[in-house]
Amino acid sequence: MIKHTDTDYFQAHRRTYGLHLYTGSALVLFLIIFTLFLPGCRSVREAECDPSLPVASTLKIAGDLDAQHKILLAFAQGYPGNVSNVEFLNNDWTMLVNGKRFYYANGRFLPEEIRVQWENYLPYDFYAYPWKGTAAQRKIFIDNPVYAAGSSFLFETLYSSPAEDESWNLQEKYSFLGVKMLIHPLIKPKLDSILTQIRAAARTDSSINRWIAELHTGAPSFGWTWRVIAGTNRRSNHSYGTAIDLLPRDLKGRLTYWRWNSDTNVGAEIDSKTYYLPPETVIKIFEEHGFIWGGNWALIDTMHFEYRPEILILNDIKIKY
Ligand SMILES: [Zn+2]
Repeated sequence: MIKHTDTDYFQAHRRTYGLHLYTGSALVLFLIIFTLFLPGCRSVREAECDPSLPVASTLKIAGDLDAQHKILLAFAQGYPGNVSNVEFLNNDWTMLVNGKRFYYANGRFLPEEIRVQWENYLPYDFYAYPWKGTAAQRKIFIDNPVYAAGSSFLFETLYSSPAEDESWNLQEKYSFLGVKMLIHPLIKPKLDSILTQIRAAARTDSSINRWIAELHTGAPSFGWTWRVIAGTNRRSNHSYGTAIDLLPRDLKGRLTYWRWNSDTNVGAEIDSKTYYLPPETVIKIFEEHGFIWGGNWALIDTMHFEYRPEILILNDIKIKY
């Protein structure tokens, strides 16, 4: 059953907003590819290679069964209704995702039938959050975009969204402080609770009131859209309706999304003069409910909130369940 009727509204904004979502979904890939070059500094970026670059790399946990176990436990903890039965089976750590067994498979998270083909896929990266690199390190990410095929099996199974139609049919209409969007039902109770807390905080914090009043409740703000990164089969979390964008009506010259920035300001310090920033309390409320904020990424996206409890758990950030 399709629960939304004003599909034209959403379809129109899928098109107009496509650029952001298309490029935004490349973030995780950038991080993955970049980390591949860290050990041994074998890349052409030898001079810039900095082993202390604060990005958690899947490679660092290669062969470390305890670290791999910890990642699967973070999924079980973060998605208690969907992920269970973390077990060591057939010489690998495994977990059930909506009843389907996934193997760690050298960080690729693959189902039984393709686990032996793990080399065909890129590993997931459980990166440091918040990212704490320097402006120069940020520029390295931005200057070295690399695209490659990765696996989407895990999140497609987790969100019962193997294809666009299935995903679309699952989505529910939602109004977040007046911003219309489509979201996955799994995050609805989280957003309900986030809204309650933001409204409560707004009673005593005028900066939150101001932020709410300035939110763009029209065209550009968005939740679900089905997008794949060119040349890959990897999806943005917007494809599952588990990421939302919140923009002000007027950016007043401030930056928000790294792809919209000019070359000269990619390394700009993240402050409220240069960037559009939601109030810190709002960011904290989102994080407590399992959402990461794009402003804490190496590739800045300050309008973006994404449901990734496993990332927060692995970075020892407390969340509510
Ligand atoms: Zn976004």
